[in-house]
Amino acid sequence: MQTGQINVQTENIFPIIKKFLYSDTEIFLRELVSNAVDATQKIKTLSSLGEFKGEVGDLKVEVILDKENKTITIRDNGIGMTEEEVDKYINQIAFSGAEEFVEKYKDKAEAIIGHFGLGFYSSFMVSDKVNIITKSHKKGAKAVKWESNGTPEFTIEEVEKENRGTDIVLHVSEDSSEFLEDARISSILNKYCKFLPHPIIFGEKSNWIDDPEGEKDEEGHVKKVEEKVPNQINNTEPTWVKKPSDLKDEDYKGFYNELYPFTDEPLFNIHLNVDYPFNLTGILYFPKLKNNIEVQKNKIQLYSNQVFITDSVENIVPDFLTLLHGVIDSPDIPLNVSRSYLQSDSNVKKISNHITKKVADKLGSMFKNDREDFQKKWDDIKVFIQYGMLSEDKFYDKAKDFNLFKTSEGDYYTTEEFKEKVSAAQTDKDGKLVILYSNDLDEQHAFIATARDRGYEVLEMNSPLDVHLISMLEQKLEKVSFARVDADTIDKLIQKEEEQPSKLSEEDEKTLKPVFESLVNKEQFVVQFESMSETDVPMMVTQSEFMRRMKEQQAMGGGMNFMGNLPEMHNLVVNSNHPLISEILNAKSKKKQEGLAKQATDLALLAQGMLKGEELTTFIKRSVEILTPKKSK
Ligand code: ADP
Repeated sequence: MQTGQINVQTENIFPIIKKFLYSDTEIFLRELVSNAVDATQKIKTLSSLGEFKGEVGDLKVEVILDKENKTITIRDNGIGMTEEEVDKYINQIAFSGAEEFVEKYKDKAEAIIGHFGLGFYSSFMVSDKVNIITKSHKKGAKAVKWESNGTPEFTIEEVEKENRGTDIVLHVSEDSSEFLEDARISSILNKYCKFLPHPIIFGEKSNWIDDPEGEKDEEGHVKKVEEKVPNQINNTEPTWVKKPSDLKDEDYKGFYNELYPFTDEPLFNIHLNVDYPFNLTGILYFPKLKNNIEVQKNKIQLYSNQVFITDSVENIVPDFLTLLHGVIDSPDIPLNVSRSYLQSDSNVKKISNHITKKVADKLGSMFKNDREDFQKKWDDIKVFIQYGMLSEDKFYDKAKDFNLFKTSEGDYYTTEEFKEKVSAAQTDKDGKLVILYSNDLDEQHAFIATARDRGYEVLEMNSPLDVHLISMLEQKLEKVSFARVDADTIDKLIQKEEEQPSKLSEEDEKTLKPVFESLVNKEQFVVQFESMSETDVPMMVTQSEFMRRMKEQQAMGGGMNFMGNLPEMHNLVVNSNHPLISEILNAKSKKKQEGLAKQATDLALLAQGMLKGEELTTFIKRSVEILTPKKSK
């Protein structure tokens, strides 16, 4: 037997590992199983290259729990290690400045582990003692047993071992006994090892098969008997590693279901497959997002060579892409380093740009190749596209050509198409194109009808991001502004050269103004006279585009708080050319005048859905009285 000192410069590296890596202890299993899979892959490669001439056999990795002896064994029949190799790969952790590094990254367990190739040593996070029992594939190699109790001392001795490969035996420490539970190990394996490329076996499971003896039950059916089979926890060939040309739509949907059981079907997917200038595979799915960016419970999963790493992919893919589901697999993402490092890593940037480009290209080609289908999906993907346009310039540049406007009539136009369609009618006297929109087709129905009477189009813009998109488009598009259809009278929204003459004199307006002002709260309404068409409504309630946007921004915490809490201000617009207004002006009695004015005001409030409660009840009562024939005396 040989004893020695593990060659680390800092003697107390193990206590440090144990202490600082505590929160991530479960990754020890990922590290050990990955090592075992690597060793398995290596023997396969050596064999296919003709460098290993022996029998490869049934390649697999087993995880074995022994509760009695309090051990976890990770067993593989991979390449194994000779005594020299154990010395080289396990004993010589040759790194310098470890202490300094550990100090710096003490909260970032993964950083420490990955940076120094300490994968194997993570086993000491849960063990008092670790054995490596290994036999190399090399001819005549002798099996050895390595043992260490987590201090830099180790022993190594020759032992008997029949088969090629490695057993890593963890003697689980008292405070890590949770890892001796089947359920715990099962869930860790499920999380990290579900798609590893070689079978991972954990215990047994029952299969119900036809009785081999052919015994029948009372109804004459062959009886089912229980058969115990090895419980393979992984799918060694996940869909993303297959060739896109070999896959059908069902395969993608099936895989989606495997990733996220009990979730609605995705809309469509993108299969990523890059090998230059970096390696990246994966499948991204577009879920149905509808109108709300809910907190996503299904997240993109990040893998490195089929080993699950994380599902917090912030910094690796642009924010808006985190709305998607699916997997990304790249050995080129430095997974084991700190998040702040990731952000500045040029590989990560390249990958992130590439994914953005791929997603934009896919959407572009869907739009080009089957516009009708694209339009059908539009309502579901709109939020995603808008989020992308708002947050990534590169995405905007591509998406502007397939970003769609939907009109109140349900027609879809690209920005260019729409501009062309409405520019003749909706350009105002200053040469500015005014795009009208509504955020609620039902509530703003009256306003939309008026606009359409003028030959104008109204867009439906009701997503939470539309507000932001509008401001962005106003900056990007030249001489274009957006106005909500109820922001003013239609002739004020799109001002033309010719103005309607007013039937009311200044004197008349002075007489009427206090009549209307007495009917509403002056803090909330400003009475205005507009010379509209005789056939327009007599009165309407509007809220200026500017005021409303300010309020919306304030509500979203847009930093407009220097204005204090903005009051909810509206305009009560009186159409000076409407016959009803002349009637109010010329009413015979004060009572009659007030009655008519009140009724007209209430109608305007009603059109905006602002007449509520007692006011509404009184209005209905009054209307019925007006309609009921007076009893002749
Ligand atoms: P890393 O895997 O990052 O290189 P580890 O500390 O996990 O770091 O492992 C160090 C080395 O030990 C590996 O590169 C490999 O050569 C060897 N090794 C670890 N586990 C096994 C195994 N199960 N079979 C064969 N070799 C192994």
